[in-house]
Amino acid sequence: RREKAIAEKSVDNLRAPIICVLGHVDTGKTKMLDTIRRTNVQDGEAGGITQQIGATQVPRDAIVERCKQVREFRAADVKVPGFLIIDTPGHESFANLRSRGSSLCDFAILVVDLMHGLEQQTLESIKLLVKRHTPFVVALNKIDRLHMYESSPRKDVYVHLGTQANNVKLEFKKRYEEVVVQFAEQGLNVCLSNDKKKMADPDYIPMVPTSAYCGDGIGNLMAFIAEMAQSKYSDRLAFIEELDATVMEVKAIPGLGTTIDVILVNGRLKNNDIIVLSGIDGPIVSQIRDLKMPEPLRELRVKSEYRSFKEIQGAQGVKVLAKGMEKALAGLPLYVVNQADEIDLLQAECEAALSKALTSIKKKPEGVYVQASTLGSLEALLEFLKTQKIPYANVNIGPAQLAADREGVRIFQADIIYHLEDDFLKYREELRQKYRREHEHLAVFPCKLRVLPQHVFNARNPIVCGVSIEAGQLKKGAPICVPSKESIFLGNVASIERNHEEVGLAKAGEEVCIKIENTTGEAPKLYGRHFTHEDFLVTRLTRESIDACKAYFRDDLSKADWQLVIELKKTLDIL
Ligand code: GDP
Repeated sequence: RREKAIAEKSVDNLRAPIICVLGHVDTGKTKMLDTIRRTNVQDGEAGGITQQIGATQVPRDAIVERCKQVREFRAADVKVPGFLIIDTPGHESFANLRSRGSSLCDFAILVVDLMHGLEQQTLESIKLLVKRHTPFVVALNKIDRLHMYESSPRKDVYVHLGTQANNVKLEFKKRYEEVVVQFAEQGLNVCLSNDKKKMADPDYIPMVPTSAYCGDGIGNLMAFIAEMAQSKYSDRLAFIEELDATVMEVKAIPGLGTTIDVILVNGRLKNNDIIVLSGIDGPIVSQIRDLKMPEPLRELRVKSEYRSFKEIQGAQGVKVLAKGMEKALAGLPLYVVNQADEIDLLQAECEAALSKALTSIKKKPEGVYVQASTLGSLEALLEFLKTQKIPYANVNIGPAQLAADREGVRIFQADIIYHLEDDFLKYREELRQKYRREHEHLAVFPCKLRVLPQHVFNARNPIVCGVSIEAGQLKKGAPICVPSKESIFLGNVASIERNHEEVGLAKAGEEVCIKIENTTGEAPKLYGRHFTHEDFLVTRLTRESIDACKAYFRDDLSKADWQLVIELKKTLDIL
């Protein structure tokens, strides 16, 4: 069957390319999607743009309309039936959309803010695109921010840029050349998409100047993608009957139960088809009860949000209704059973697809356990852990809430990984501070000090005298002893004054006045009798205090301080 499907494929019957939008936050990804979706075709005239499940279908007519303004663009040449543009921009949805290990997206639009150049998430997006071999076009966005730029969304952007004031042209040139250099630093060649000479070289990545806000250049961007799709990538986009579908999201919808949102790349899904897909507890076999897509935006008077379909052909985004979808896993393939004896085989395929995805992840013998609801978010999490140098020992896919509730583990939630990262780091810092507060009294810092004999103000409990800190750090509260005399305990530091001002801490090299109080009730030790200025005084460390310092105050102590810990350990005979 597969051979037959492939044999029948033809570049005269293309499917819509699937397009994803990536880039740094605030570069204009959402705006870009909105602008592409907003057709300038008059209502009803040319078959409007339809919202789909997780994606928007921009039909051929709408593309043609948008591209009319583009120089050298011939409407008659548009062979793709439309674009299927994934609605959630960004990294993660791109990572989630996979088919047979590679990206499900045929192309990506990488949005770069012309005023900011390549930013952190732009670089990460580039890495991901290169890794998945996904061709992309750079939208050099926000050209309307060029000083004195005048917008004209209905013109070819290059023609229009040519008519701008000289200083606008110069600023544009300067800024885009900066971007070229930044790409070069990443080992990539980029050029403007109208640079025919460079574009003839397959190594060059095209850039199109755009203003997602005003609409300038969006026609050029769409024309470029349409042209590239049907020339360079027509083979990939030739429609075939062999099913290629990926579960994008598992969603509970009031009135419909738990449904799955599927990106259907190739082939078709029909009502009553028997389907097999991966689930938390193993492969799920079910039957399609209904296929749904949203009502076209124009027909708002229709009550229900969705319209039912008997059959849907790729490439489309579609909501599939079937029993038992509660345990379905996103980010993995969906299969249709054509012959009854295929079920076992497809179940095995499901298991293989999941275990391949999980075992291909390199793990450390020791580390955290990572569980995520989809493969894409799992990968994003692992990437994050890598940057934090947190090793992971095992991974899994599935809902984590139940397990977390059972174990009393806090779950962080965010729509984008970067917010998650911020929340987590903030929480970790709060926790660190909390532990520090809790262990403050245990964590005695190492210190070696000597009494200044001409500054002894009170010789007995409380001892008040000037001291010079010879090494380490003296913290308020620290227990003080005289190690040379079988470790006589003097008391705790009740206060530290530097130039008559109370301080919490004194460091090596300083001379301060301290008060040592003994509240143990034992006979008070006397300066001049039990110890003199010739004795070193030290903070009384214990095994426990050293462990507390190591765990919570490691960075508060310098290398020399840690050296002193070793010395005092010997002096005080601590094991
Ligand atoms: P995203 O985080 O990448 O999805 O960025 P948004 O689409 O939310 O845009 C971020 C901000 O930049 C918003 O205030 C937009 O209105 C603005 N913006 C987006 N595109 C353009 C553009 O082409 N020109 C200008 N001047 N502003 C833009």
